[in-house]
Parts: sequence; C-alpha cells; structure tokens
Amino acid sequence: MYRRTVTMELITTASALNQKVNRNDISGTIGFVPTMGALHAGHISLVQRAAAENNCVVVSIFVNPTQFNDKKDLERYPRNLEADLNLLKNSGCHYVFAPAVEEVYPEPDKRRFDFGDLETVMEGRFRPGHFNGVGQVVSRLFDIVNPHRAYFGLKDFQQLAIIKKLVALLHYDIEIVPCPIVREESGLALSSRNELLSPAERKNAAAIYRTLSEAHQKSKYQEVSELISWVIREVNQHPPLDVEYFEIVNELTLQPVSTWDDPGGKIGCIAVWCGKVRLIDNVSF
Ligand code: AMP
Repeated sequence: MYRRTVTMELITTASALNQKVNRNDISGTIGFVPTMGALHAGHISLVQRAAAENNCVVVSIFVNPTQFNDKKDLERYPRNLEADLNLLKNSGCHYVFAPAVEEVYPEPDKRRFDFGDLETVMEGRFRPGHFNGVGQVVSRLFDIVNPHRAYFGLKDFQQLAIIKKLVALLHYDIEIVPCPIVREESGLALSSRNELLSPAERKNAAAIYRTLSEAHQKSKYQEVSELISWVIREVNQHPPLDVEYFEIVNELTLQPVSTWDDPGGKIGCIAVWCGKVRLIDNVSF
C-alpha cells in the first residue's frame, strides 16, 4: 500500500501525521527515524535501513529543548530544514515530521524517568537531565508515530541503552534497531556538530577515532586502567582536543570494567571537547 518509489511529504502536526500513518490501518510496517536535523550520511544510513525493512518510513526532525542541559548548545545547534529535505529525497523516506515545540509538548513534560545506573555514568554524569529529556521526546514521538520499528545510531551508544530501557519501562511494542556508526574518510564519526568545527579543528578531531582504533589493538596486551590513561593522554596531545571522559564499560550495564576478564562485551566511550564543540565516539573491545 505504501509505494517503493517515494514521494516525500512534509508534515508538521501530529493529527496530520496520524491521518496519513496509522499502525492499525495498514498491513505493512512503519519504520521511524528520530533526528534533530542538520542531516548527514549517518542519518541517511538509518533512513535507508528503515526503508529496506518497512513499508512506510517516517523521519522526524525536531531539536528537542528538554534534552539540552546547556542553553548555548541549544542556540548553536545547526538547523537547516531545506537542506535536510533535499538530502532525504530518494532516501526512502515517505513522511518528514517536523513539528513545532508546542506540537510535541502542548504542556510542559514533567515526567521523570528512572533509568537506574544507565544514566549515572558518562553522558548522564556530565550532562545532567539530558537523558530524561531524551526519554521525554522519544516517548512523545513514539506516541505520535506509533511505529513498528525505530532506528538509532550506535554512535550514541548510551542513548541506545536508555531507549531500550524506555521501551521496557513504558511497554512499547516497538523494535529498536541499532545501526553502525558512519564516519568521514578521516575516521571522524559524522555528527551534526561537525559543521561547527573549523577546518583545522576538524582535522585534529580525526585523532579521536585514530586513537580509539589503536586502543583496540593495544587492548590485546595492555591493562584496562593503563589503556584508559593512554587514550586520554594521546587524544589530549592534539589541541584543542580536551577529553571529558574515556571509560571502558560493560556494553549492557554501562558500568566500568576493571579487567578484560570481566564477563560480557566491552565498549570504550569517549567525550571530547574540540574548542567549543563536544564530540562523542566509541569503540567495542
Ligand atoms: P541526532 O540528529 O544527532 O539526534 O541523531 C539522530 C540519530 O542518528 C541518532 O540515532 C544517532 O545515533 C544517529 N546518528 C548520528 N550520527 C550518526 C553516525 N555518524 N552514524 C550512525 N548514526 C548516527
């Protein structure tokens, strides 16, 4: 019922979207890709995956004020709907949902989620209130779009864990699909915030992934605590890079591991200031 060759439609209200896309009306599946716009090839990879696996694809573009703990970061966040729509053409997206703030939050969202230990570490520690805001917006968008599947990038590894927890807490019948990190040729993870970097900063920012890749090799013979110190030292050698944290954690609990013998998969997560821009990345061990 939804065409494969897609005419994309821009929708700004929840009621208009519900008239077009309704999980109870259609025989096929709805795939949903939530974004904050300033789209790049990383976002498009999620959309293409959603298009390959569903009959109808909805992409939301909404810069969510409740997840910004830093008001300056919210003001600075890049916005360009026209460029986003151009990029989404021919990506397999059927509906772009770009609501105003009042459409998503007719009233202030006062909900407080308990994500347990998942939100006390890393991004949760350095960006107080951030994941509660993410929980609010994702649950509002899930309620409006009501998709079968939702696609999230592994670049925001901790966010993915939080979303899975949100789905469990609120009993959503939605499959969460993790998607691989898309990188620039230099290895730098694509991010909307990369637009804010000067050419020189962007070049230096490539040291983040270079170091993580080398850390992956070193993990075969270096202890966890030594490797953590090495990564921080190495990245900080490329001004203006300034590591906020680098932690090696269990991939499910997100709690720090002390030795490689700890059971379960491990992931190294990093947040780095590059001048005024904060970048995150990760590598699995
Ligand atoms: P954002 O617009 O930054 O909120 O990101 C929207 C979605 O795109 C999130 O699920 C991100 O994890 C994902 N995403 C952002 N950058 C990348 C990337 N370089 N590779 C893959 N997914 C990404």
